[in-house]
Amino acid sequence: MDDPIHLFVPTFRVDEVLEAVRECLEKGWTGLGYKTVEFEEKWRAHTRLPHAHFLSSASAGLHLALKLLKEERGWEDGDEVVTTPLTFVSTNHAILYEGLRPVFADVDESLCLDPASVEECLSPRTRAVMFVGLGGNPGRYAEVRALCARRGLALVLDAAHMAGTWMDGGSHAGADADVSVFSYQAVKNLPTADSGMICFAEKRLDDEVRKWTWLGINKDTYTRTLSAGTYKWMYDVEHLGFKYHGNSIMAAMGLVALKYMEDDNAQRRSLCAVYDEALAGAAGVGGVAMAPGCTPSRHLYQVLVEGRDQVMTALNARGIYPGVHYRDNTVYRMYKDAPFPCPRARRASERVISLPLHLRLSQGEVRRVAAALREVVAGR
Ligand SMILES: *Cc1c(COP(=O)(O)O)cnc(C)c1O
Repeated sequence: MDDPIHLFVPTFRVDEVLEAVRECLEKGWTGLGYKTVEFEEKWRAHTRLPHAHFLSSASAGLHLALKLLKEERGWEDGDEVVTTPLTFVSTNHAILYEGLRPVFADVDESLCLDPASVEECLSPRTRAVMFVGLGGNPGRYAEVRALCARRGLALVLDAAHMAGTWMDGGSHAGADADVSVFSYQAVKNLPTADSGMICFAEKRLDDEVRKWTWLGINKDTYTRTLSAGTYKWMYDVEHLGFKYHGNSIMAAMGLVALKYMEDDNAQRRSLCAVYDEALAGAAGVGGVAMAPGCTPSRHLYQVLVEGRDQVMTALNARGIYPGVHYRDNTVYRMYKDAPFPCPRARRASERVISLPLHLRLSQGEVRRVAAALREVVAGR
C-alpha cells in the first residue's frame, strides 16, 4: 500500500524557526512587541500594504474589521453585510459578533462572490461587502470593488487564503480593500501555529486597532504627556477591548515563513499545473475558474464532482484524504434563515473537493491522486 496522501501538511523550516524562537526565549521577550513589530514591518515591506497589525488569529481580525468600521461609519445594529455562504464560518461569525446581519449572495464559477448577485442583495441597510478569495483566487473581486465604490459600501477582504496572491496589475491582495485580513494558521500559506494580520487602508484605523487588540489600553496618551520611562503603570483605558494581539513566538515563526512564502507558492502553482494536466478532459470532473492575470497563492486545488461524499469515501479507501471547502453556511442551523437562495453555492457545496495540496507532495503523488480521482469518477 502506498503512503497515505493528506489534504494539508504544514512545512516548517524547523532549525530556522527554533533559532528565531530561541532568540525570543533568551531575550526573555515572548509577547507583544519585539518580533511582532519586526514581522509587521517585513509584511508591509513585502506586500506594500500601507498598514499591518499582527494578531492572534484571522478570526479575531475579521471581528475587529467590522467592529472598527461599524464604529467609524456609524453603522447600527441590524445593518447588513453582503457575504458568501461558501466560506469558513469565521467570516460570517464576525458579522454576527457586531450585531450586523449577514445577507448571503451567490457565488460564480470561481466559487467567489458573483458581483451580479451581490448587487441584487443590496438594500438601503447594506453597509459592507465581505469578499473571500477562496483558495487564493481573487475571482471577480475587481468588479465587487468597483460596485462597492459606486454604492459607498465598505469592502472587507477575508484574505485568509491570499498570503502571496498578487492581483492582475501586480499589487498584493488587499491593496485596495478598506481592510484585509490574513490567516497564518498552520495549514495556510504562511504557516505559524496560529496567528493573523489585519491591514487597514487608513492609518487612523490602524492606530485604533492597536488599542482594541490589547484590552483598550492606550499607553500613548501617557507616554506623550509624561517623560519617558516614568510612571509606566499610568495608562488610559479607552474601550472595552480584547486580548487579540499576536505574540513574538508566532511572529518569529512568521518571519521565517515569510522568507519562503513566494517560493512555496510557486511550488504550489506547479503542483496545480500537474493536476491541471493530469485531469484535463476527465469526464465528470469540473474545474473552478481562476481569475485571469493574477498570480494566485494556490491555497487550494478544487474540483467539482457529482456524488462528492461517495467519491471522498472511495478516495479514502485508496489512502487519499481530500477536504471540502466549504459547506454552504446556510446548511448550518444558525445561518439557515437566509433571505436569498444561493443555488450555485448550494450546488458547489455538494460537489466541491479540495485535492491534497502541500509542499511535501511530489509530482508523482499528485498524478496518483488525479489517476485515482479519474478512476473513481469513471467507475460510478
Ligand atoms: C482559516 C480561515 C479563517 C480563520 O483564520 P484563523 O487564523 O484560523 O482564525 C477565516 N476565513 C477563512 C476563509 C479561512 O480559511
